[in-house]
Amino acid sequence: VQPTSRSLARDHRLQRVLGLLRTSGCRVTTTRVAIVRTLLSRGGHVTAQQLADDVRRSHPEVHPSSVYRCLDTLVDVGVVHHAHLGHGAAVFHLTDERHEHLVCDGCGAVTEVPSDVLDELAERLGRGWGFTLQRGHGALSGRCRDCM
Ligand SMILES: [Zn+2]
Ligand SMILES: [Zn+2]
Ligand SMILES: [Zn+2]
Repeated sequence: VQPTSRSLARDHRLQRVLGLLRTSGCRVTTTRVAIVRTLLSRGGHVTAQQLADDVRRSHPEVHPSSVYRCLDTLVDVGVVHHAHLGHGAAVFHLTDERHEHLVCDGCGAVTEVPSDVLDELAERLGRGWGFTLQRGHGALSGRCRDCM
C-alpha cells in the first residue's frame, strides 16, 4: 500500500516528537510511542480516558494506569500539555506545534491558530500588569463562521 502524504507527515512528526523525548533523557517505550501515535492520529485533542481506551485497543497488554503514568511523564518532559477546550475534561495535545484554540460555543468546533495571534495581548498584559500569559492552556471562545 502506498502511504498517503498525510500519513508520511504524521510519521515525520512522530519521529520529531520521539526525538524530543530522547533529548530529554526519556526512554522511548511502547506505551510512550502508543500515546504519541494516538495523539497524532486523533488530530490532537483527547482526554486521558480516550487515550487510555485507544492505547488499550492497539496494545491490550498495557494497563490503563501505566498510560496515565506515562502521560504524566510526557507532560513533565514538556512533549505533551493539557488544555481546557470546553466544560468537560481537560484534553491533551502535543507541544511541538504551538497553537491557540478557538472554540465555537455553537457547534463546538475547535480551530487551531498560531500562537503568535496573542503576541500583542501578551506583551500588553506583561507591561501593564506584570502578568505572564500562559499560551495554549485555556481556549478563546466565540462563534465560528458557520454559526454566525
Ligand atoms: Zn489546566
Ligand atoms: Zn491543542
Ligand atoms: Zn460553530
